[in-house]
Amino acid sequence: MNIFFKHKLTLKLTLKLTLTLSLFLLSCATEKPLNLSVAREEVKQYYESGNFDEELNNVIAEAKRKFDKIEFNENSVVIFDVDETALDNYGLAEKMGFGYIYETNKIWNAEGKTPPIPQVKELYDFLLSKGAKIIFLTGRNFPEYNATYSNLKYAGYATFDTLITQIGDEKKMKAQEFKSSKRVWLTEQDYEIAGTVGDQWSDLEGEYHGIQVKIPNYLYLIED
Ligand SMILES: [Mg+2]
Repeated sequence: MNIFFKHKLTLKLTLKLTLTLSLFLLSCATEKPLNLSVAREEVKQYYESGNFDEELNNVIAEAKRKFDKIEFNENSVVIFDVDETALDNYGLAEKMGFGYIYETNKIWNAEGKTPPIPQVKELYDFLLSKGAKIIFLTGRNFPEYNATYSNLKYAGYATFDTLITQIGDEKKMKAQEFKSSKRVWLTEQDYEIAGTVGDQWSDLEGEYHGIQVKIPNYLYLIED
C-alpha cells in the first residue's frame, strides 16, 4: 500500500470512530427520564398486582432456608428494622401521593395502627419458634418510642427483647453508622447477632450483621 492510501485509510477509520463516539455521547446526553406519573403508576402496579408479594415471598423463603441451617443459643438475636420491614406503610405512601409530607408521617406514626408486612411477620414467627430473640432497631426518634412499641404489639409482634430508637445526637448520625454502632453495643452486651432484616442496605451493612435479609422497597431509598 502506498503512503497516500495508508494515510487515507487511517483518516477514514478515525472519522468513523469519532462519529460513533459522538453518536454514543449524544444518545447518552439526550436520554429522557421516566415521567414521574408513569414511574409512580409503575410502582403502584408492582405493589398492587401481587408482583411485590411474589418477590417478597421468595426473599422470605430464602431467608428461612438460611436461618434453618444455623443453631440458635440463648444469646442469639435477629435484628429487625421497623418501617417497610416489620410494618407496612404503603397506606401512608398513598396518602402522601408517594412523596413525603412530614406532618402526615408524624400523625400516621402516632396513630400506631400500621399493619405488619405478613411475610416478615411469618419470618419473625419462624425465628421465635427456632429460639431466636428479636430486637427492633429503628431510625425513628425517641418521642415516637411509645407509639412504635404499641404499634408493633398491635401488628402482632407480641414478643421481643427490646425496641431501640434514636435519641439525642444519634439523629445526626447516618443511618448505617447508627444501626451498626447499636449492633456493636449489643454484641458487647453478649448478644450474638444471627441476622439482620431490613428494607435498606443501611439496615444490613456494617458491623455484626449476620445473615442479611433485604426486604424489597420501591417506595423510597435511604442513601446514607
Ligand atoms: Mg425501614
